[in-house]
Amino acid sequence: MTDIDATPEHDPTAPGSELDDTLVAPAPPSRRRLIRRPSFSIGDVDVAAGKSEIGEIPVSRLVTGNRISIPINVIHGRHEGPVVWLSAAVHGDEIGGVEIIRRALLGIDPKTLAGTIVAVPIVNVHGFLNGDRYLPDRRDLNRSFPGSPNGSLAARIANLFLTEIVNRCDVGIDLHTGSDHRTNLAQIRADLDDPRTRDLALAFGAPFMMHAKLRDGSMRAAATATGSTVLLFEGGEAWRFDREAIAVGVAGVRRVLARLGMIQDDDVPGGVDPAAVPAESRSSGWVRVRRSGIAGIDVELGQMVERGEIVATVRDSVGRRLSQTRANRTGMVIGLTRQPIVNQGDAIIHIAEILDVPATTTESDTE
Ligand SMILES: [Zn+2]
Repeated sequence: MTDIDATPEHDPTAPGSELDDTLVAPAPPSRRRLIRRPSFSIGDVDVAAGKSEIGEIPVSRLVTGNRISIPINVIHGRHEGPVVWLSAAVHGDEIGGVEIIRRALLGIDPKTLAGTIVAVPIVNVHGFLNGDRYLPDRRDLNRSFPGSPNGSLAARIANLFLTEIVNRCDVGIDLHTGSDHRTNLAQIRADLDDPRTRDLALAFGAPFMMHAKLRDGSMRAAATATGSTVLLFEGGEAWRFDREAIAVGVAGVRRVLARLGMIQDDDVPGGVDPAAVPAESRSSGWVRVRRSGIAGIDVELGQMVERGEIVATVRDSVGRRLSQTRANRTGMVIGLTRQPIVNQGDAIIHIAEILDVPATTTESDTE
């Protein structure tokens, strides 16, 4: 496991860098060629240092008999550095991350990259084909980790992802969106009590971050157990590209790569320092409607609300007011439904209590 707090190994000017190591020191060109970084083999590709390749990891066969595989894009830097995976569409209908990965990788040059990026834009290929969150066996892939090679289809794919991708990586960013007609404010969910994770969450620079305990069966829990540092990004909604959430995701992925010393700071849109320190929360809850009907929602993502404030009104089809919905806590709106037709008890607005103390940047974040 690469120590992500360590000085970037490819920076020959940094104190403590491996000046003696000919892999990273500015050796004469002839010498550099002799000690080339080993290639990176994964799925059906063997990627030489300083190259990128598109390949696939075979999964199974579709009911039609066609082979099905997970597409991968591997950028194997010429210089030593961490191995990072980027994954999306673990829930097959959450397509926003596919676009985040595509844009985040634009212009990354394997000749200058320090480390290796394994991009997996569609983990749940079955779900993606059907526009479905789940696998054909109705299982949630993100509750099926670590899985097993002989279990259900979900368990097998989880196990494949863990052994082929996660086990070879130091850091992972798993990209999600809201589900069920709900949209999420662009946010990082991570174990903010872990200093390395917190450092990368701050580097990502989303407007909001939530301390999230590890959830049984999730990729994040399984990967953390293997020693990886994992950030989970949430933003936008299923089946749609949300321009704002995607922009935050692209910049965030780039900032993390820069923080890890893999790319240069000036390769980050908007720079490495996020304009504002993220709002931070450790507690949140949904507001539910008391009556069935048509809900008019009066708040936007990112808005601060006071406990007791009216946040939505439910009316019947001819416009009579049935109930008003009030915020059940003071905090920031981090998720809401895009589906105005509601049943009694439906959760429509997600409010996070914001910590009074702004998220402090760690010492190492100030460099
Ligand atoms: Zn998801």
